[in-house]
Amino acid sequence: MPECEVCGKVVSEKRKIRLGGSELEVCSDCVSLGEEITKKEVKVYMHVSSPDFVPDIEEREVVSDLSEKVRKARETLGMSQKDAAQRIGIQESVFRRIESHGFRPDDQTLRRIEKGLNIHLLKKTEDDVMDILDK
Ligand SMILES: [Zn+2]
Repeated sequence: MPECEVCGKVVSEKRKIRLGGSELEVCSDCVSLGEEITKKEVKVYMHVSSPDFVPDIEEREVVSDLSEKVRKARETLGMSQKDAAQRIGIQESVFRRIESHGFRPDDQTLRRIEKGLNIHLLKKTEDDVMDILDK
């Protein structure tokens, strides 16, 4: 059964919210904690494909070993997941998802992680741009 990512309650129907720059799947009790994302919005958010699509500087490629890098940086700093999340200013559950499941948060959150853990997660090289344009 799916669980609410905020309170951990088992829910039959999850709802998506945007909270602190991340998307969370929550129960109906926790929807009010963030801005609810409707299905229509999610579609727009998830899919970017038009003939004129040019990679925006705000939508940068993330290092492939995101979770690994985050975990190593945190361990180097001797912090728990909770400490790191607090320092970065995101929810512990979000941090855990990034570290354990390679969840990719939005660029704003990634920048906060970069700053908080003193690492680089976003990259932008010519090869990456070509790669995006080829698709
Ligand atoms: Zn909940």
